[in-house]
Amino acid sequence: MNAAKRLEIFRRLHEDNPEPKTELAYSTPFELLIAVILSAQATDVGVNKATAKLYPVANTPEAILALGVDGLSEYIKTIGLYNSKAKNVIETCRMLVELHGSQVPDNREALEALPGVGRKTANVVLNTAFRQLAMAVDTHIFRVSNRTGIAPGKNVVEVEKKLLKFVPKDFLLDAHHWLILHGRYVCQARKPRCGSCRIEDLCEYKLKTSDD
Ligand code: SF4
Repeated sequence: MNAAKRLEIFRRLHEDNPEPKTELAYSTPFELLIAVILSAQATDVGVNKATAKLYPVANTPEAILALGVDGLSEYIKTIGLYNSKAKNVIETCRMLVELHGSQVPDNREALEALPGVGRKTANVVLNTAFRQLAMAVDTHIFRVSNRTGIAPGKNVVEVEKKLLKFVPKDFLLDAHHWLILHGRYVCQARKPRCGSCRIEDLCEYKLKTSDD
């Protein structure tokens, strides 16, 4: 795909949604970090339901640490893999208190050292909470990048690097959200809705549908 096409794709995604936001509910970097840890293999809606009850009771590392694994599990037991997530969140809170003055660190190395935090979670927090140029490639972004030709790659790291290189600079900070939303609601895994896709004429996917 050439640069002019990429520019026009992001110009249109921006035009339709000038201030794209994550669908996870949060009000502090800490709340975002915990929500992203909980969202692995779970829906944002499911995570939001759980955190809507948890955060009014405990939304700091100290408060969640005080709940303990069992207390925290009560709030998140509707979320898949809640057992291991509860353990990771408690250990993450302990490390934030002991090593980071109860603050979420704003660098990749420290974030990825936290239990339950991999490259993708670190990228989401760096980009969304700290507005750094980081690109979290999830299943939606991986699919959209490959189908459209915006940033084709065999694995998530390859796609991440290509997106950072090829997305026009002015759109890089928000590209993550636009691509996720496009993948979630339009360029869906089983049946892309090409018939009502805003970038259909620019997309280079060979198996476009007429579905809307
Ligand atoms: S035209 Fe189809 S394949 Fe291409 S981005 Fe739109 S929905 Fe996805």
